[in-house]
Amino acid sequence: MSGDRPTAGVDDRLPAPPRPVGLRTRYCGELRPADIGQQVSLCGWVDHRREHGDKLAFVDLRDHTGLVQCVVEGAHALRSEFVLRVTGTVRERPEGTANDQLATGQVELAGCQVEVLAAADPPPFVLDGYTDADEALRLRYRYLDLRTGRMQRNLRLRARVVSALRRSMEGQGFTELETPLLWTPTPEGAREFAIPSRLNHGSFYVLPQSPQIAKQLLMVGGFDRYFQIARCLRDEDPRADRQYEFTQLDLEASFVTEADVRAFVTEAVSAGVEAGRGERPAEFVEMTWAEALDTYGVDKPDLRFGMRLVECTPLFAATSFNAFKAPAIKAIRVPGGAGFTRSRLDGLVERAKSLGARGLVWMRVEPAEGAGGPGAPLGLDSPVAKFLSDDEKVALVAATEAEPGDLLLLVADEHRRACEVLGQLRVDIGRPPVGEGPLRFCWVVDFPLFDGLDEDGRPQAAHHPFTMPHPDDLDRFDTDPLSVRAQSYDLVCNGWELGSGSIRIHRSDVQAQVLSALGIAPEEAEARFGFLLGAFRFGAPPHGGFAVGVDRLVAILAGEDSIRDVIAFPKTQSGADPMTGAPKPLGPRQLRELGLRDLAGPKPPAR
Ligand code: ASP
Repeated sequence: MSGDRPTAGVDDRLPAPPRPVGLRTRYCGELRPADIGQQVSLCGWVDHRREHGDKLAFVDLRDHTGLVQCVVEGAHALRSEFVLRVTGTVRERPEGTANDQLATGQVELAGCQVEVLAAADPPPFVLDGYTDADEALRLRYRYLDLRTGRMQRNLRLRARVVSALRRSMEGQGFTELETPLLWTPTPEGAREFAIPSRLNHGSFYVLPQSPQIAKQLLMVGGFDRYFQIARCLRDEDPRADRQYEFTQLDLEASFVTEADVRAFVTEAVSAGVEAGRGERPAEFVEMTWAEALDTYGVDKPDLRFGMRLVECTPLFAATSFNAFKAPAIKAIRVPGGAGFTRSRLDGLVERAKSLGARGLVWMRVEPAEGAGGPGAPLGLDSPVAKFLSDDEKVALVAATEAEPGDLLLLVADEHRRACEVLGQLRVDIGRPPVGEGPLRFCWVVDFPLFDGLDEDGRPQAAHHPFTMPHPDDLDRFDTDPLSVRAQSYDLVCNGWELGSGSIRIHRSDVQAQVLSALGIAPEEAEARFGFLLGAFRFGAPPHGGFAVGVDRLVAILAGEDSIRDVIAFPKTQSGADPMTGAPKPLGPRQLRELGLRDLAGPKPPAR
C-alpha cells in the first residue's frame, strides 16, 4: 500500500457521485473526452503544481473522486493543499501528453479562472508517500491523512461494508435497535470505562463492553431478531487488532439453534465481503475447538497455509529418549526449513521456551546419503538424532511426510502446551500478512465452557457467563468442569478472530449454577446483574447471538494489518489521541462537580 497517491482513492466500485451542487458543476475525477468543449467549475485541493514555462503551470486539482490537470496562468501563489474553485473548459490534452495512469488523463482544463477558497500551510508530511511518515504524526494530523488515497479508499470501503451488513440483516428479518452507552458493569471479562455521575457522587455508569445483556433483554422483550452496528468500549491495551472503542455487528435471535445463528452471520459477512471485494467468499469451513487446537495449535486457525500439527505421540511410545517421555508429542514440518541458520534455529528454541515449552527439538531432513551414506535409512540432522532409533526416525518422516530440505520441529509436553507452542511457531514462521491471499473463513465450534482454573481452583468462563453449556455435558458440570463444552462458536478469517457468539442461558436455575461454578455468590450476582436474572423469571425465550468485529473485517478486506487504518479517528497503541491530546486532566471545577479528587495531585513545580 506504500507510495499511494491521494488520487488512487477513486474506487471503481464506487457509485457515481451525486449531482454536483453549490460551487461546482462537475467533479475532478469524472472528466472524460466526452466532456471536451464543456465549461465546468470544479472544487478541490491542489495536489501538485508543476511550472510550465514562465507564465503557465499545471495544477492537479483533487477532490474525493480523483484529480484532473488544470492549465493555470499565474499560479505561483498556489501551493499544495490550497483549496480552489477552478472554472475552465475541458479540452483534449496535446498529442503525446495523455496520461494513461489517470482516469482523467486524456483531458485537461484550460482557460482557467481560479478562486482561492482557502490557503493552506505546507502539510507536515507528504500526502502521497505518506507511509514513511511516523504514525503518531499521521494521527496528529489525521484530517490530512484522511485526504490520502489509502484512507479515502479504506473508509469508503468501510461504509460500503457496513451498509451491506445492515441490508443483509434487515433482509434476514432483523430489527435495528439501539442500546445505552451509559450502562452498568457486566461480567464479560474486559476492564470497563467508568463515567462518574454528576448527580450521584460516588456512583458510576460504565461504557458497555458490548450490548450483550441489553440484547438478551430485548429477546425477553419479544423482539425476536435484533441487530445493531454497535460501538463497544473496553479499557484494554490497544494493539494492531484492538482499540479502546471498536465497532461490532451485534445480533441476537430467539428460538434459534447454533447453526441458525451461524447461518445468519455467514450470510451477512458474505454480503459484506461481496461489497468490499466484488465477490462472495468461498466456503466457511467448520471445525471443533478441539480439532483446531490439535491441528493448528490455536483457536483461530489461519487456513491459508499448511504446516499443520502432526500427532507423533504414539510413534515414541516406547522411546528411550527421555525428553520424549511426555504426555504428548507434536510436530510441524517447515517446507524448505532445512536451510534455516543455526542462529535462527536457536531463536526458535528460545521462542518455544518463552512460550512455556520445556524445549524444542529441530531436525533438518537431508537426503539419505547426507547422513550415513547411500542405503542409510534416513537423513535427520539434529542434536538429538542419536537418541532416536531408526524405526522412530522412519515413522517420524512418514508421519510428517517430510522430504529432504524440510525442517521438523517437535515439542514434547502436556497436550495443550505442545499444541499451543507449535501453533505459535507455525504462525511465526509461515503466516502471511492478514490481508494477503484468499479469505479463508472458518467457524470454530464447541468451545469449552471454562478456560482453565484460577488461583483458587475455580473455573474461568471461556466466553462469558451467559453461555449455555452443551446439553450432553451437563452431568460433568461438578465433576469435570473443564471438559464441559459450551454452545459457543467463533468466526475466524485468516488467523484473526472476527467474532464470537453463543446460545445463551435463558433459565435462572442454569444461570445460577454457572455463576456459582464461577465463584460468583448469589448476593453478588444479584447486585451485579440481578436485573437480568430477574428478567429470566418472567418468561425468557431460548436465544442466541453473535458479534462480528467490523473493524477487523474491513481491515482484512482493505489489506491492512492494523485496524487503525480503517478507523477515521483511532487512538495510538498507548491509548492516546495525538490530535486532540486526549486523555487530558479535568479542571478543578469539573472534578468538584463530578465529586472526584485528583489523587495524582498537582504536578510538583519544576526545579
Ligand atoms: N457479547 C459478545 C462479545 O462482544 C458477543 C456475543 O456473544 O454475542 O464478544
